[in-house]
Amino acid sequence: MTMTDIKSMTQEEITDALRAMGEPAFRGKQVFSWLHKGATDFAEMNNLSKPLREKLGKEFTITAPTVARKQVSRLDGTVKYLWELRDGNCIETVLMSYHHGNTVCISSQVGCRMGCKFCASTIAGKVRDLTPSEMLDQVLFTQLDSEKDISNIVLMGIGEPLDNRANVLRFLQLVNHPEGLNIGMRHISLSTCGVVPGIDALAEENLQLTLSVSLHAPDSATRSRIMPVNNAYDVEELFAACHRYFKKTGRRISFEYAMIDGVNDHDWQADLLTERIRGMPGHVNLIPLNDVVESEFKPSRRVAAFQKRLESHGLTATVRRSLGGDIDASCGQLRRKEMEAKERGQ
Ligand code: SAH
Repeated sequence: MTMTDIKSMTQEEITDALRAMGEPAFRGKQVFSWLHKGATDFAEMNNLSKPLREKLGKEFTITAPTVARKQVSRLDGTVKYLWELRDGNCIETVLMSYHHGNTVCISSQVGCRMGCKFCASTIAGKVRDLTPSEMLDQVLFTQLDSEKDISNIVLMGIGEPLDNRANVLRFLQLVNHPEGLNIGMRHISLSTCGVVPGIDALAEENLQLTLSVSLHAPDSATRSRIMPVNNAYDVEELFAACHRYFKKTGRRISFEYAMIDGVNDHDWQADLLTERIRGMPGHVNLIPLNDVVESEFKPSRRVAAFQKRLESHGLTATVRRSLGGDIDASCGQLRRKEMEAKERGQ
């Protein structure tokens, strides 16, 4: 019999399961609260009877990753965790500290199948989706290990959240729960490479989170060259979905734009980008490209000029501050190193 992953269950589901065992409803709350405080064994739950703890231990498992590697940036204190999951797979989480609080950047899949040409996370493809509990654990155990209260979450680590939508939505519900970590939707960002049906489905949920769209090019020819997802849902369809999303939720979308030398950094592309966003309040976040060794693309030298051009059209454009430059803190680089080391038998 496979055991049920209890931390992926909602409080109501846990309560129902306990009720079916003949327990009163408040037991559900107690168990939920223990799990969301980071309990890794039913034996720790000392306000439950011993027989009940044993019974739970036979039916349910509690996920808990172990720290495979941890790197702390000497430049800015950014921490990168490489977690090992129960099945031996590894995922990355980054903890960034700003004046306004601590942000954790979590992964949503083991690997990624989207194939963006500049991204290290996708080189070896997707292994599997993460469960809601495995996403929650990244926040929970980062908080416990670092002893820093997490105030913000960005779903911008390894994986495509809208390619694992059901689990991601459940994770959001869990992490937002008042008796759990209670992190407000307005403190959560979800980043997608542009899975149009996923954007429409998310709009239906009408959440107060921030949607980030990894655009990286405003024209289909360039976007298809660097992002295969554009062959399935091209720029025009993507922007139509963004406009629908804004109409439905009233939430401003953030467009991510990694600046690549000679590919997407021309003035005409800034002009076209402005055209496409017109009609909704968009924010453009320019990202200095992280140099991925395996990639043919190099960082642009026109970041400031491109930003000026956007601003001259009245768009708000910011340049992302790069953190953790000394610790492989960007997308998939630490996991890649670990995989390569394993291949070499180290
Ligand atoms: N799959 C989601 C979330 C993960 S990627 C998405 O595509 O949005 C998080 C962000 O990092 C995306 O905007 C992605 O395009 C960007 N990114 C990936 N590789 C990068 C690199 N080498 N330099 C700069 N940004 C990169």
